Amino acid sequence: MNQQTNTSIILRQAQEAGVKQVRFLFCDNAGIIRGKAAGKQALASGLSSGLGLMRAVLAMNSLDQLQLIEDMGAVGEIRLMPDPRTFRIVPYAPHTAALLCDLRLPDGEAWDGCPRTFLRRQVERAHGEAGISFMSAFEPEWSLARRAIDGTYTAIDDSLGFSSIGMTTPATVIDEILTALDSQRFKVEQYHSELGHGQQEITIAHAPALEAADNQLFYRETVRSVAWNQGLIASFAPRPFANQPGNGCHLHLSAWAGDRSNLFYEPDDRYQLSQIGYYFIGGILAHLPALIALTCPSVNSYRRLKPHSWAAAYTCYGPDNREAAVRIVSPQYGRESATINLELRASDNTANPYLALGGVIAAGLDGIRQARAPGEALLTLDDPDNIPLEERIQRGIHRLPETLSAALDELEKDPVLMDALGPTLAKTYLAVKRSEAVAFARQDESFEINQHFFKY
Ligand code: GLU
Ligand code: MG
Repeated sequence: MNQQTNTSIILRQAQEAGVKQVRFLFCDNAGIIRGKAAGKQALASGLSSGLGLMRAVLAMNSLDQLQLIEDMGAVGEIRLMPDPRTFRIVPYAPHTAALLCDLRLPDGEAWDGCPRTFLRRQVERAHGEAGISFMSAFEPEWSLARRAIDGTYTAIDDSLGFSSIGMTTPATVIDEILTALDSQRFKVEQYHSELGHGQQEITIAHAPALEAADNQLFYRETVRSVAWNQGLIASFAPRPFANQPGNGCHLHLSAWAGDRSNLFYEPDDRYQLSQIGYYFIGGILAHLPALIALTCPSVNSYRRLKPHSWAAAYTCYGPDNREAAVRIVSPQYGRESATINLELRASDNTANPYLALGGVIAAGLDGIRQARAPGEALLTLDDPDNIPLEERIQRGIHRLPETLSAALDELEKDPVLMDALGPTLAKTYLAVKRSEAVAFARQDESFEINQHFFKY
């Protein structure tokens, strides 16, 4: 389909649905979904040449504090250039449609500060270098709460994990969320009430990497908006309640050559994982202390990333081990080659999904390129925190950085990830994230939790 056909199809659909505004959305360096809407008058031109926006938005942190970065101040524009494949009428706002955008330069050229373009580059690299197409799924957990007039939050229930009453208490809002996901053609797989108070998990099927990251943005949009319309807050913050389990967003990947051949599958291996799969794990673990600056990128992330919380706090891997940073997910009986995949557990919803997934692919590709077999020492069949400290050190199983600042230090020292990001994105991202670490260090725990609760 050419650009012109796309445009006319979208214009027709928008008109038929009585759409009055189309949101042009993107995800910023702080992981916040932002954008602008085109009215009916500006839609056709917006589809062909984008909407203008100040470049400075990408230099803003999650407190809307603008960072001093060259070419990203009072002067400087970008274009929000929509990807027509992401168009949809959204069911959670009246007469509204939405699109996801690349950030381009004013002349329409690609901009090296664009997170979505970064992921696209990693996808192309994987294909060019190794003939691999990655499939991925984000697996978000989130908490439903009520907000009191004084701004405090209370979980909607204190139900138990996987309890049926925990599925009944939020049933009306879950029903509307499922309807809203269906209408956008999401492939919903499973739903359960998670362990924490008010905590929920609805999973959707894997998709090609770029589409999976796009899905994560529309999923967050949909869940938060439907909950809001029912007078509730859906929080994707990693630790919305200090005394309750955290919200992870485990990241699943499998590597494909064409549609039918899962390159992570090896029937003769004890865990049915191929050599390429092991190299991929080796790459992730080698870069993990730096990589979590992209996958667990908020100050609140480090309140979740603790031992004994199934969030993964050590550089190790294991089959179905929920305390290992990388879990080899056991394949489904009878569908082994279609279902074997790897799960990065040190990952949460405050990440910009394009940066998180692009970073994971860059780290994994490095593992494949360097044949980084993770070996027996990093393989754990138990909770790594139960291994005596000396033995852990000897085996090379390290505690992950315990603060955002420490993770950013690692990122800055990691040439593979810094190279993949490129100078503009690396500089901007580090400035924005460093400023969050500084701003929250000046405040107390309740400020931090409150800020993350509503924004994510
Ligand atoms: N809530 C846990 C986390 O923070 C994960 C629990 C689970 O395995 O589903 O990652
Ligand atoms: Mg879960």
